[in-house]
Amino acid sequence: MSRWREVGKDNYVLVTEGSLLNTGLVVGSERAMVIDTGGGPRQGREILEAVRQKTNLPLVIVNTHAHYDHFFGNAVFAAADVTEFWAHQNCAKEITQRGDLQRRYVATLEPEMSAGEGKDVELVAPNVIVKDQPVLVDLGDLTVTLFYLGRGHTDGDLLVGTPTTLYVGDLVEQGNHPSFEDSYPEEWADVLRHISALRHRYEFLIPGHGEPCSDKFVKTMANTMTTAVRQARQSIRDTPNDATKAIPVLPYGPEQSRWFIKRLQENWRGSLNAR
Ligand SMILES: [Zn+2]
Repeated sequence: MSRWREVGKDNYVLVTEGSLLNTGLVVGSERAMVIDTGGGPRQGREILEAVRQKTNLPLVIVNTHAHYDHFFGNAVFAAADVTEFWAHQNCAKEITQRGDLQRRYVATLEPEMSAGEGKDVELVAPNVIVKDQPVLVDLGDLTVTLFYLGRGHTDGDLLVGTPTTLYVGDLVEQGNHPSFEDSYPEEWADVLRHISALRHRYEFLIPGHGEPCSDKFVKTMANTMTTAVRQARQSIRDTPNDATKAIPVLPYGPEQSRWFIKRLQENWRGSLNAR
């Protein structure tokens, strides 16, 4: 059974069974906002059902970023007459251009989504876009702020701030190493410092996966990342032909460390080419 947890007045977080994704729900007097829709129609339906136990108001959706477990459930909500899907412009672009490539990740959990056959398996790309300026979304008696702090876990991570609670997507991950596959590690550390500096504004900080976090947790995550960037940079300088030598010294698991180094190298190459 899926269970809602209250995180501030009219703010909730849901963990559906068999998944560690945190779905957010913010309930206003006229509309409610659902933050992240799951990895396919199976999970999407579970989320929608759980939402309907809490509220019958019209819904708006936010996708925090373009990873399958956060937007593959969109079609279920579209089929339930939801028309407003918010995301950062880079996230919307990624979903539109390359979202299909992520179907291979859900072969076990969501076979229909993976095969692209069945009900509610089409990709529904976000259609209301946030750029660099914050956007206010009116839910009736409460207003939600959608904002972007720069590149981090991906190039399109959107944050959702309510009067009590900050939903940060996978910019913060609790209980697991951060995922670096599409990340910008150096910029990510700065984004984390920015989030930590907002600590007086929000009572609750909800990561994309895991338990609610303290600002101290976020600060530690930032410092660990900055140290790791320094260590990796040193290793790459010492042994330029074999950057994997840095893996044992990094504070992440071997798989994530490999991605970390790969992304650092790609980002550096990118910035050199841009000059
Ligand atoms: Zn992610």
